[in-house]
Amino acid sequence: MFVDEVRIIAQAGDGGDGCISFRREKYEAFGGPNGGDGGKGGDVILEGTNNENHLIKYKYQPQWKAERGQHGMGSDRIGRSGKDEVLLVPLGTIVSNRETGQVVAEILEIGQRVRLLKGGSGGWGNAKFKSSVNRAPRRANPGEPGETGEFQLVLKTIADVGLVGYPNAGKSTLTNMITNARPKMAAYPFTTLHPGVGVIEYPDKYQRLLMADIPGIIEGASENRGLGHRFLRHIERCFVLTFIIDMSGIDGRDPWDDYEQLVAELGAYDKSLLDKPRIVLANKMDEEVAAENLKQFRQRHDILIQPISCLSEEGIAEFKEVLWEKVSDAKARMKEAEIRDSNSANDDSDSH
Ligand code: GDP
Ligand code: MG
Repeated sequence: MFVDEVRIIAQAGDGGDGCISFRREKYEAFGGPNGGDGGKGGDVILEGTNNENHLIKYKYQPQWKAERGQHGMGSDRIGRSGKDEVLLVPLGTIVSNRETGQVVAEILEIGQRVRLLKGGSGGWGNAKFKSSVNRAPRRANPGEPGETGEFQLVLKTIADVGLVGYPNAGKSTLTNMITNARPKMAAYPFTTLHPGVGVIEYPDKYQRLLMADIPGIIEGASENRGLGHRFLRHIERCFVLTFIIDMSGIDGRDPWDDYEQLVAELGAYDKSLLDKPRIVLANKMDEEVAAENLKQFRQRHDILIQPISCLSEEGIAEFKEVLWEKVSDAKARMKEAEIRDSNSANDDSDSH
């Protein structure tokens, strides 16, 4: 199941109550007040993680509650703070307040934390109420209640694979062909998926990849239309870019120029996109001129290019496999880099 929209009800921890207590000493008839403050209640916090890619956990468990603060104790002992409740969510999760409809947070980074609800402060113990006029206050505050709230979590699609190509290269055809063949309205609530995103199933692996047909870059760039920042973020998060080239050159274009221009325009748009692993597809190999064009293409560009045809289905199964391997590779490398980063961050803090 692919859950991209859930509601949660959450409650931050109440603050602990302040304590009323007096010192008892052997030779002192009336000891002063020594009731400690209550501990702060735990917050409810959202944290971005790479280890989840859906919100299904929250569908099955919509209610969350942070720990309350411990009550204050005698001998000026302060109550322990309640533990925060940290809810891990996949990157791309947008959180809005159910009551106001306002977007509260957008989780886009690993480790990014947003406090949804604040735990209540602990109440003052009677030691705090001591004054010149009241040396033995029999008074303490209760802890404040923690905040409560209802939120909607929506997962914006972050595709594993971005598909780029000139108009009519066959992006939509390929997407329709290799992504889920079942009708769109079937088992999944696709409500918030970007329309150009499809799910590629790998039944033998019990896995799936999300592929986004990226229309805006090239088609928009030539018209000087920029893409919204949000959409760009999605592209930045793709693990692999697939370039699809119309090898038939039917529109009077040269496929090798198409490729060069695609690379140039992508780079002009965002240089880091060019660092991503790439798969280059030569589409429409069923067309007569395509074989000769492919030969010329290979003479001009020393890259691995996979011939396919969305019409005859030539090369499609192979492409799916290569895609799987590239994405898995890229994910593994990213994990390693994260581990390295967090290790070196630990080293830094140790040395101080
Ligand atoms: P997009 O603009 O990149 O999304 O391109 P489309 O998927 O809409 O395809 C543009 C045209 O190319 C359509 O008429 C498709 O039927 C055609 N087309 C796509 N793939 C192939 C193919 O492998 N062979 C042939 N002959 N035509 C194709
Ligand atoms: Mg299209």
